[in-house]
Amino acid sequence: MSRPITIDEDIVAEATKWRRHLHANPETAFEEHATADFVAAKLEEFGIEVHRGLGKTGVVGTLKRGSSPAAIGLRADMDALFIHEETNLPYRSKVDGKMHACGHDGHTAMLLGAASYLARHGEFDGTIQFIFQPAEETGDERCGGNMMVKDGLFEKFPVEAVFGMHNMPYFQAGTFRMRTGPMLASIDTFEYHVISRLAHPATQFGTPDPLLIAARIVQDMHAFKARYVNPAEPVVLSITQFQSGNPADRQSVHVTPEKAVVRGTIYTLNDAVRDEFETGLEKIVRHAADASGASHKFIFERGYPVMRNTAKETEFAASVAREVVGNDLVETNMQPIMGAEDFAFLLNGAPGSYVLLGAAVEGEAAPRALHNPGYDFNDEIIPTGVRYWATLAERYLSQARQG
Ligand SMILES: [Zn+2]
Ligand SMILES: [Zn+2]
Repeated sequence: MSRPITIDEDIVAEATKWRRHLHANPETAFEEHATADFVAAKLEEFGIEVHRGLGKTGVVGTLKRGSSPAAIGLRADMDALFIHEETNLPYRSKVDGKMHACGHDGHTAMLLGAASYLARHGEFDGTIQFIFQPAEETGDERCGGNMMVKDGLFEKFPVEAVFGMHNMPYFQAGTFRMRTGPMLASIDTFEYHVISRLAHPATQFGTPDPLLIAARIVQDMHAFKARYVNPAEPVVLSITQFQSGNPADRQSVHVTPEKAVVRGTIYTLNDAVRDEFETGLEKIVRHAADASGASHKFIFERGYPVMRNTAKETEFAASVAREVVGNDLVETNMQPIMGAEDFAFLLNGAPGSYVLLGAAVEGEAAPRALHNPGYDFNDEIIPTGVRYWATLAERYLSQARQG
């Protein structure tokens, strides 16, 4: 049995300070300049080789020991959200309209903590790539994970496997959940316009009514999901924006608007289902507009693919989680979650596994929901997260994984 890993108290204390510093200074997608400077400075301080600029503001730290060609990638995300913080924390966001409401401040701090530990004590043979990525939250193909992969992440920093982690305030602190196969959904967005001409309601019968047509399309889209897609495939279809006319102008209630614009999102666990929706929704919009004599526009924009964990790496991640928190606190067959994560792009480039680390705050009646103005990362899980990363890297690179 390998030596048990205990994280030095000063590393945990420091990581907590870094987390709060990052929390107070949030930066959103591809603007993580100060955050990247901070991460790079820390890595250099630990004696880790630093590479900047992958995916614009991404940072990769490389720590190599021994002679083995084996290599592992550990990834954290660094970006904040466009949310105005509503807490009274001493380290609350100093930037109006931006905050770390998804815990990426904690993810960055925990991976830095592990880097500090591994640089100081790490016993392994091979290479650890510490991947700090920007822009996890964009929801489209321009996200940081995809940009780093496109910039040659896996060519410049080849790894046998890549691992990710996210805090989860809805689960008990210090528990791990994961699954092999699809664990998080794909996300795509769509938009349609129904276009006609302004009309007086008295003579409306001669002019297509875009609002009525667009409203019927909303119903038809839900019917498509309910009746024309295999119900064994989980799908979340949401129409989230509907705009027509000008509610701010009370007087224009006497005019039928010339246009309606509607937007929505689709989450699924199967990439083939995305194709079905792209074709099916376009057809619904086209037919409805044609039937009424209106014109239309339809845009389908691909976001993140389905996030799939590979079996071998997930079994390995589970064994590490069990070593860190014990058997009872590790769930290896969790139900998939219909949310999306751009780590999916990394898992399309290398085998690996993404785990959820429970982060509920004991004694609080309701969980601190992610993407909420009152959210704050639970610092109590920092030692567990750091220990998971450090153990994962050491065990992976000590098993002389030849083949
Ligand atoms: Zn988020
Ligand atoms: Zn997140």
